Amino acid sequence: MSTLLSTRPLDTVADFPAIPAGWAYLDTAATAQKPQPVIDAITRAYAQDYATVHRGVYQRSASMTYAFEAARERVARFIGAGAADEIVFVRGATEAINLVAQSWGRTQLKSGDRIMLSMLEHHSNIVPWQILQRDVDVAIDVAPLTADGQIDLDAMAAMLTPRHKLVALAHVSNVLGSMLDVERAAALAHGVGAALLVDGCQAVPRMPVDVQALGCDFYVFSAHKLYGPTGFGVLWGKAEHLELMPPVQGGGAMIDKVSFAGTTFAAPPARFEAGTPHIVGALGLHAAIDYVDAIGLDAIHAHEAALVAETRSALGALNSIRLFGPENSAGIVSFAVEGVHPHDVGTILDESRVAIRAGHHCAQPLMEHLGVEATARASFGVYNGKQDVEALVRGMERVARIFG
Ligand code: PMP
Repeated sequence: MSTLLSTRPLDTVADFPAIPAGWAYLDTAATAQKPQPVIDAITRAYAQDYATVHRGVYQRSASMTYAFEAARERVARFIGAGAADEIVFVRGATEAINLVAQSWGRTQLKSGDRIMLSMLEHHSNIVPWQILQRDVDVAIDVAPLTADGQIDLDAMAAMLTPRHKLVALAHVSNVLGSMLDVERAAALAHGVGAALLVDGCQAVPRMPVDVQALGCDFYVFSAHKLYGPTGFGVLWGKAEHLELMPPVQGGGAMIDKVSFAGTTFAAPPARFEAGTPHIVGALGLHAAIDYVDAIGLDAIHAHEAALVAETRSALGALNSIRLFGPENSAGIVSFAVEGVHPHDVGTILDESRVAIRAGHHCAQPLMEHLGVEATARASFGVYNGKQDVEALVRGMERVARIFG
């Protein structure tokens, strides 16, 4: 294999205490490892600054509330939201999409309306819409893919009708790494009067995102894929949409006034944040955003593009490996070895201290479309380098020897 990457390595691995020397962690699309500044922010929040938010009259709680809301403002700036009030804190992308389905979907959609998804969606951008179908008789259409695994927007354009009220698509496929032209998808959706929800889970860690420039209506992502903590994530919605949305969960913090005669609700985003929030999650996400912003999302994108190019060319040179997805995939390479189950590939690579994901990646319709049960997937982060690609390729050469 070639030994030169076309871009300078980021050299960040020393920031990640959970990545020991010699371990090639290639499962960032599942969850990213955490840099020391994120760990420090979380530790400091629990060990030093901890208190509840929004309720306490004492100084410590006021400071924590300030930090919690500063995180919301940081997220808004990071993704180009119009205002911090458009940022709803949730448990993750899954909860964000379910919230839109159960709140916006149940009130804004009616029987006979249609939703457009695509063949490469993660289950969390399929099943919430199917659950919505139990209450509202909407139809779901599925945009096909191009031969190299991108959402086929020409085909989608021909399928869209004025009955479509929502288009919900992944910005970057968690299996194929293919990148959506969000601006075009937004123009197509808006052209028929539909809103566009973008699942940004795999995009936010890999490229600059400006939701207003992209022109979408909702954008969701999970903190843990962005080098932040688990159990935390973001729903961004245009204010005009959030204002129309009723709460799905009731409890503390989301009310205006409660009485047995009738309760009124707070304005967004509080309306959607019932109960004591994941306070430390917000602070961890703030630190994670500071971390990636300091490196620069353009630099991260270029770095991962170089790793993908190197991986695709090296794996492609090995006999009997089938590569999925487009040449220019964002940080993610799925592959299969003829006659070898991806789980066996994963196990053998693990013996060589290479951690990949093997399975259906919560994208069973895509697996069926590809004609496989599962794929092996290598996905990159800021800490990966040439040595990880070389370890993967050596591991795959061993797979080939073992299976003849
Ligand atoms: N969408 C995509 C594209 C994903 O990769 C994932 C996580 N694998 C999700 C949604 C769901 O994210 P979470 O499990 O953090 O809610």
